[in-house]
Amino acid sequence: MTTRFSKEHEAHIPSDGEPAPVDLELIAQGVRMILEGLGEDPERPGLQETPRRVAEMYAELTSGMREDAAQHVVPLPGDKHDEMVIVKDISIASMCEHHLAPFVGKCHIAYIPRDGRILGISKLARLAETFSRRLQLQERLTTDIANTLFEGLKPIGVMVVIEAAHTCMTLRGVRKVEAKTVTSAVLGGFRTDPRTRAEAMALITGKE
Ligand SMILES: [Zn+2]
Repeated sequence: MTTRFSKEHEAHIPSDGEPAPVDLELIAQGVRMILEGLGEDPERPGLQETPRRVAEMYAELTSGMREDAAQHVVPLPGDKHDEMVIVKDISIASMCEHHLAPFVGKCHIAYIPRDGRILGISKLARLAETFSRRLQLQERLTTDIANTLFEGLKPIGVMVVIEAAHTCMTLRGVRKVEAKTVTSAVLGGFRTDPRTRAEAMALITGKE
């Protein structure tokens, strides 16, 4: 993770495609302002360390912004498999870019290998994690994972389904505590063949 502490705010200088580093001190300044805006005293004992803690938490929750997700899509050498692969229930924790509030849930990834190329399960989980740890929308998170897997592994088809609960919905406003948002991205053979898509969906949802 690229982080830096600055004494004063310096402008981020973009350099050839390099992601901007996290400025923990700038985030901490913003958190102090939020506390003041709430009518709090950021200097009272319970809050003194809060801006720094929040800054470090945001840096961690967005660490995927400073990682190349495609690096995880490396086929397993020597292994060949031609049947559909489904990895269910990959835990994801992401951050809604509209509210900077977390959304958490499960990601399910199905793909049909081409020429036997498969990906280690831990690599699929890392792919989902790298895209999750960014400011996201659930829809974009779903298509980012599907597109990167489709382009990197060149399988016959990819399907990604994410079910997540958004704290910006469950903790406020309408307070639909149980509400879950389900998104899917379907590419290649899963798109053109409804039977294969239905089979994958049944395996993902556990319904026949
Ligand atoms: Zn939101």
